[in-house]
Formats: sequence, C-alpha cells, structure tokens
Amino acid sequence: MSKDKRHIAILGSTGSIGTQALEVIKSQPEKLELEVLTAGSNIELLAQQAKKFKPNAVVISDESKYEALSEMLKDEDVKVYAGEDALNQIVGIEAVDIVLTAIVGYAGLKSTMSAILAGKTIALANKEALVVAGELITSVAREKGVDIYPVDSEHSAIFQCLTGEIYNPIEKIYLTASGGPFRGMKTADLKNITKEQALDHPNWSMGAKITIDSATMMNKGLEAIEAKWLFGLKSDQIDIIVHPQSIVHSIVQFEDGSMKAQMGLPDMKLPIQYAFSYPLRLKSDFKRLDFKYFSQLTFESPDPKTFRNLALAYEAMDKGGNIPCVLNAANEIAVESFLNDKIGFLAISEVIEKCLEKAEFIAKPSLNDYIDVDFATRAMAKELIAKES
Ligand code: NDP
Ligand code: MG
Repeated sequence: MSKDKRHIAILGSTGSIGTQALEVIKSQPEKLELEVLTAGSNIELLAQQAKKFKPNAVVISDESKYEALSEMLKDEDVKVYAGEDALNQIVGIEAVDIVLTAIVGYAGLKSTMSAILAGKTIALANKEALVVAGELITSVAREKGVDIYPVDSEHSAIFQCLTGEIYNPIEKIYLTASGGPFRGMKTADLKNITKEQALDHPNWSMGAKITIDSATMMNKGLEAIEAKWLFGLKSDQIDIIVHPQSIVHSIVQFEDGSMKAQMGLPDMKLPIQYAFSYPLRLKSDFKRLDFKYFSQLTFESPDPKTFRNLALAYEAMDKGGNIPCVLNAANEIAVESFLNDKIGFLAISEVIEKCLEKAEFIAKPSLNDYIDVDFATRAMAKELIAKES
C-alpha cells in the first residue's frame, strides 16, 4: 500500500460486519482512516462509535432519531445527518476513498449505487444489492471505472486465488458452505425448527438475517448469484460444496485442471481488511490456523431437495432479469416473518416459490423497475403469509 491512508465510510457500522470493520480500522492506524459511520436506527451504538472513532460525519437512516442523536453528539466535532438522501450523498464526499457496504438486505441497494456513481471503491458486504441488480451495478461500475472488492468470505477467497491469474480464465469455482446448524437433516426434521435453533450457527457469528439465510441455505444461493456478477460466470461454473469446518473458504479451478483454495480460520476481519488494503496484505494479529486442531477437512454435496432455497436461487439465477430481485424480496419478507414467529421454517421456501411462480418477467430491468418489483413482491409475500396464518 502507498504511504497514503485509505479513507473509509462504513455503511451499517452498528451491525456484525460494521463493528468488525471498526476493529480492523482501529488495528491499522497507519493505513486506514475512518471518515463516515451510518446506521439504520441504533443511535446509542452509533453515538458510542462516533465518540470513540471520531469520524467526519454520521448518518442515521431513521429520521425520527435525528434530534436524539444530535443531542448525544453535541460536544463532538462530527456532522450529524439523517434520512435516505443524506445516506446517498454522504458516500460521495471527497474525503472518502472506500465505501464498505454493510447494510443488510435490499435496503443497501441505493447507497451502493450512489457510491459507485460517485466513483468510490466499493468493499462489498451487502450481497443482496448484487443479487437484486447485479447486471446494472456491474455495468455502471465498469462505466465509472469503479472497483468492487468482495468482503463475503467465499468471494474474498476466490478474489485472493485470482491474484496473478489475469490471463487465465476460470473453468469453475467451488463456493464452500458450512451447511449451517441443520446439515444432514431431512424435511421432516425441519418442520418444528425454532428461531433459536436457526439462529445458532455453528461457525460464524453474524446478523440475524444472514444467520437464517445460512440455516435455509439461501445464503449460499445468494452467494452463487453474487459470484456470477463479481466474476462474470455462468451458473454451471458455480458449484456449492458443503465443508462443515469452514476452513477452506472457497476454491477456483482453472482450465488446466489446477485448483487454488484460500484457507484460514473463520474470521470476517481478514476479508474486510483485504478489501480495504488490496492488493497488499497488512500485517495482522488475527488468530492463525493450527492444523493440529483440524486434522480432518471434509467435503460433501449439498442437499437442495431438503434445502429448497438453494434450488430456487439457482432457478432465479438462470432466469435472470428481475427474477433474482423477486427471490430476494420474497426471502426478506419470509425471513422477517419467521423471526417474528408468523411462519414456520419450511414455509420460508414455500413463500419464495409462490412469489417466483407469480412473477412477471422483465428481461432488462432499470433501477426503477427493481424498486417496483421489490415493492410488489414484498406486498405479495405479506399477503400470502397473512392468508396462511
Ligand atoms: P446486521 O444485521 O448485523 O447489521 C446491519 C446493519 O445495517 C446495521 O448497521 C443496521 O443498522 C443497518 N441497517 C439495517 N437496515 C437498514 C436500513 N433500512 N437503512 C439503513 N441501515 C440499515 O447485518 P450483518 O452485518 O450481518 O450483514 C450486513 C451485510 O453483510 C449483509 O448483506 C450480509 O449478507 C453481509 N455479510 C455478512 C456477514 C457476517 O459475517 N455478518 C458475512 C458475509 C456477508 P441498525 O443497527 O441501526 O439496525
Ligand atoms: Mg459468505
């Protein structure tokens, strides 16, 4: 890395990725500098972070919390803003080089687009933005000459394996999946799963939405679509392999048959830091992998018959157009409803499948089309859920 520091905006700083990104920035004071923090509604944590990390500006999306946040930060030298427009503008300020998109779900789409339009390098955690509008996002990023560096551990692994391989096409990639807490179970076993069981992920500590997505395997489906756009692949070049130890983070296979894998303990701080420091690796004290404790690394095939979300995501990826946007919106409503005890675990896939069946195909959606499709699908999913309960 050059002597210059990289100046960072964290969108979604109060979440799992956001708080880990702050730890990374704190550990690299010579190389990384924080400029902006944003959150949805958690002003207590946002104010605490602002006092500790002294950013230039903070944005709270929930406008009703503006006064209270301003009051909490009145003695600090920090600009306080609220609302969606402020979020979309803050990503463009001159002081920022890299925008970490760590808002969860579709809610992160517009700010991701705004950051790309402002020409900022993207450290992308918000996979849903690429799932919904991958074609649009990647084409605008190409036009603007904007780099998108993956934060998702599997995609960071692929990205790391591709270093030095610019002349060598990818034959195939293998995205590894832990299998989540219900690996090996069959449909009948999943019937009475509680949200507490689904929230108890064996290897990773993450926000609630992605933890449920991991339990249903939708996370891996979303990641396949994310990989399609990040690495320009067709769906038959993207394989999923279940690897319960989460040590091999993913694998690239080249045209001569050679495979490269990236390995390490499951810790999101490494991919976050790599997205901030690319192409360099910064010295860190992240815990090292000791093979003594991992004498067996195992791999098995996924079970898309039981974990239907995986099959639905591949179906949506193959159809393309607005269909992955339908998949994502239906999934977000279904997961929220599961977390609010309105539907059971298996009903998550049923809601998504029904929304996909009813969706009208749009081959080349605009940003406004995506906004409309997302809105309409959410309404449809809510209606389906209301009818069933
Ligand atoms: P969390 O739920 O922990 O955090 C989400 C963040 O987004 C919070 O800061 C939250 O603010 C903010 N937010 C939520 N809704 C809105 C909204 N409508 N407008 C503005 N801000 C909002 O999520 P994670 O950190 O787990 O995940 C973030 C993204 O990273 C997701 O897309 C996920 O798929 C991806 N990812 C996460 C991984 C992980 O290990 N956690 C691994 C790989 C990818 P508030 O706290 O105020 O609600
Ligand atoms: Mg991942």
